[in-house]
Amino acid sequence: MDNLLTTLPSSEPAALPDHQEIWRLVLAAMSESLPKGAYDAWFAHARAVGADDTRFTIEVASSFTQEWLRDRYRAMIEQALAEITGRPLVVEIRISPEMAARSVAPVFVAAAPTDPRIAAAVAQSGDGSAPSHAAISTPRPQLNPRYTFESFVVGGSNEFAHAACRAVSERPGASYNPLFIYGGVGLGKTHLIQAIGHAVLAKNPRTRVFYMSAEAWMNEMVSAIQNGTTLQFKERFRTADFLLIDDVPFLSGKESTQQELFHTFNVLIDARKQIVLTSDRPPNEIADLEERLVSRFQAGLVADIQSPDLEMRLAILRKRSVTEGIALDDDVTLLIADSVKSNVRELEGSLVRLLAYASLTGRDITIDLARQVLKDYLSSPSRKISVEQIQTATIEFFSLPADAMRSKRRTAALSHPRQIAMFLSREMTGLSLAEIGRKFGGRDHTTVLHACEKIRVDLSRDPTVTDALTRIRSRIEK
Ligand code: ADP
Ligand code: MG
Repeated sequence: MDNLLTTLPSSEPAALPDHQEIWRLVLAAMSESLPKGAYDAWFAHARAVGADDTRFTIEVASSFTQEWLRDRYRAMIEQALAEITGRPLVVEIRISPEMAARSVAPVFVAAAPTDPRIAAAVAQSGDGSAPSHAAISTPRPQLNPRYTFESFVVGGSNEFAHAACRAVSERPGASYNPLFIYGGVGLGKTHLIQAIGHAVLAKNPRTRVFYMSAEAWMNEMVSAIQNGTTLQFKERFRTADFLLIDDVPFLSGKESTQQELFHTFNVLIDARKQIVLTSDRPPNEIADLEERLVSRFQAGLVADIQSPDLEMRLAILRKRSVTEGIALDDDVTLLIADSVKSNVRELEGSLVRLLAYASLTGRDITIDLARQVLKDYLSSPSRKISVEQIQTATIEFFSLPADAMRSKRRTAALSHPRQIAMFLSREMTGLSLAEIGRKFGGRDHTTVLHACEKIRVDLSRDPTVTDALTRIRSRIEK
């Protein structure tokens, strides 16, 4: 963008180029920095409609694009604007009714059509591509074959959630609808919700089971909007017998996705179809979740999962070693169960590591070996967060090219995410400024310091930066 800057008149306030010209330069900067797919999806159809001394207004065709630009790219756009115009401008992202009407990808309609009305709407659209119910194939949910009720160990900390999941798989849509399961990481939420899928499909393979993470659900919705297939999207989910949605807090702040979920929800509940959701916290503690969704979630049964106690940890280890075909001594099992308390995923992780270590080194699994492996495991560097992990999570979050963190280019679209990653590296790794700088393409420690200060200031006045940090952190900690 440096070379673009020189093509501009001076940054004297009076000489501000007109907003079309500025936007052209912003777009050039974005297309230079972002992968083509991301640029085409979010920027290609956005247009500038006005600017004044403090504000720059753009219009897009859907609330979806609006949210996406606001959540992920606003800071970058503003930084580009500042570089181009030499003054801080706040970007305002509006939905253009006219663009929305023209758009091949319709904005989600607010009213929730029930099944027959969708059918009618599809028929009316007259493009001949309306999917009939018969044409909609039975979904094949991607379930982990290991996540069944049979392999799930039941104990005091999860028996309520387990019983509820069993009940809905036997009598769907009856009394616990929706079923909302919550609990900390690695405590078996995904295992349980998928076990429901396995159980009902085992009984009747034609049952229409949709299992997906809230993130996958949103992504499907985005592509439906982009491909102009929103009606098919709606129709598809509204034919579900079971809608199983994992990790609901992902929807926090995603207004139009929440709206669509709410409507799908109503249609399914009315039709007495079963809905199950999981979350790491109770419904009312999910930030930026529409009130009406919170109350929907609470209207059924809310069941929590707690951390397993020692006995349960022992039982889980025993069961797992049986499936792995390994006979473990009691003292070894006890040592692991006693050392790894936080969650089941870590518990299994230590067991798997012990088994791998023993088989790779050809040694017997003794208490000494277990002690050694556990010691390594509990203090292993892989459990510490690396700058590389932070960089990867940041690149994924902003959909940037792989070399974005080391690149010498200083365009807004790259430098803002890079500053965020530096800030997080400082916060999460305990490395020095100089060490961090080296990992960002050999940058100087003052660059890192500057980045940390800039993000700290941004944090105090820009909620999207706070939000981006929270989401990148949770990607890293996953
Ligand atoms: P969550 O979704 O709550 O983060 P997962 O369902 O992914 O956790 O569980 C993490 C791991 O622990 C999985 O491999 C799962 O099979 C295992 N696990 C959790 N709870 C149990 C349990 N009660 N019995 C057997 N395995 C369990
Ligand atoms: Mg999970």
